[in-house]
Amino acid sequence: MTCDQLKTDVCVIGAGPGGMMSSIAARWAGCDVCVIEKNSNAGRKLLATGGGRCNLTHAGRIDDFVRACMPYGHFLKPAFYAMSPEQTLAFFHERGLKTYVDDEGCVFPVSERASDVHRILLEQMQADGVAICYGRPVVLVEKTDELFVVQTEKRRINAKAVIVATGGKSWPKTGSTGDGYTIAESFGHSIEPATGILCPMVTQEGWPGELQGVSLENAAIRLKIKSKASVYSGKMVFTADGIGGPAVFDVSRTAADLLRKQSQVPVTLDFWPKYQREQLSSKLIDLCAAHPKKDVAGILAQWFPKRLAGYLQIVACGDRPVQGCQLSKFQRQRLVEALKATPLTFIQSGPLEKATVTRGGICLKDIDSRTMQSRLCEGLFFAGEVMDVDGPCGGYNLQIAFSTGALAGQSAAKIC
Ligand SMILES: Cc1cc2nc3c(=O)[nH]c(=O)nc-3n(C[C@H](O)[C@H](O)[C@H](O)COP(=O)(O)OP(=O)(O)OC[C@H]3O[C@@H](n4cnc5c(N)ncnc54)[C@H](O)[C@@H]3O)c2cc1C
Repeated sequence: MTCDQLKTDVCVIGAGPGGMMSSIAARWAGCDVCVIEKNSNAGRKLLATGGGRCNLTHAGRIDDFVRACMPYGHFLKPAFYAMSPEQTLAFFHERGLKTYVDDEGCVFPVSERASDVHRILLEQMQADGVAICYGRPVVLVEKTDELFVVQTEKRRINAKAVIVATGGKSWPKTGSTGDGYTIAESFGHSIEPATGILCPMVTQEGWPGELQGVSLENAAIRLKIKSKASVYSGKMVFTADGIGGPAVFDVSRTAADLLRKQSQVPVTLDFWPKYQREQLSSKLIDLCAAHPKKDVAGILAQWFPKRLAGYLQIVACGDRPVQGCQLSKFQRQRLVEALKATPLTFIQSGPLEKATVTRGGICLKDIDSRTMQSRLCEGLFFAGEVMDVDGPCGGYNLQIAFSTGALAGQSAAKIC
């Protein structure tokens, strides 16, 4: 079929990874499929993934994915079975993509080009005869007795099934502006408010802003929920209003969840995770003995960026510089405490514009996880980030889009 035909079996709204994979799955199940995309090209966000390198999935079994994607893991399980990480890789490998797994289990194309992943999806759609209509934002979806009417500004398309794959609200410049929420709401679905995750965190304290741009190769962020502490470590950077970087992206998922229920999330920063407090204290004694005439900031600057070293000196010793030989036991203890457990308070996750992924979206209670079909409207399906699902950094979110897309496509085909 072509974009000018007004009738199709399955109409997919949105040509991101979720929409593209669902169109292929529905086509493979024998349906006519038409994808409607509001941008002039498909998969703009996909092209930006992994800084253009595309971390397309993660190494591991389905159970590992279910665990990693909690609290949404159980909902996603049937989708991971419909298209497992292994099957996803097989799909791309069979079409010529070579991949490698890094030390953390993240899977990338050997070419490190997201455009290769993008091209394979598009070529498969074209080879299968999926019709794609670009530059046409869907503005309304209605259902008559039998058929859906999908309406763009200039055209109405009749379809037996509709898959909403319009993405979340983060990085809106790629086309994901929450349009799917309005469509779902018009069928009675409720929407969990959208916030950004896998993003920088805004802190109540202002001092991180004074260190804006200072980065650390390996910091650890400790978050305590009741008596259980979780530690997130990796690169970290101070931002204008808080902290960012991979370690923060990881903690932002849990923090965003807590911020739905409480106004603040206290954490502590460990600037030197390699050493325990006692080891650090002895190390500082040795360092001060070795550099008695250097001020404490100068001594710390061997390990930390200058501005952070200066800040740590102020926290431990006050405004006046203190030399190594002058550092009192009390000041040393304060310095150890500042290095190992500086308190910070998260009050907000970074704005949606800067967030990699959206937390929130179409509530799961009204979606059947075995099919991705709406419980409120037969024939209406959802795929990808438009739903209130997300995973951690490391390729999980693209896998969610591929898996839910495949399941939605297969299920939609069954009712056509
Ligand atoms: C910078 C960045 C880097 C990322 N890196 C990774 C990574 O390396 N690994 C990983 O797993 N995840 C990564 N992600 C997350 C991942 O890209 C998303 O989770 C994934 O793209 C979601 O796929 P989707 O198909 O659900 O939605 P999207 O990719 O958002 O696609 C939705 C599509 O729907 C279209 N659309 C929206 N409204 C309408 C409408 N009204 N009518 C028609 N079309 C419409 C949009 O234009 C868009 O093309 C990254 C995200 C960002 C922003």
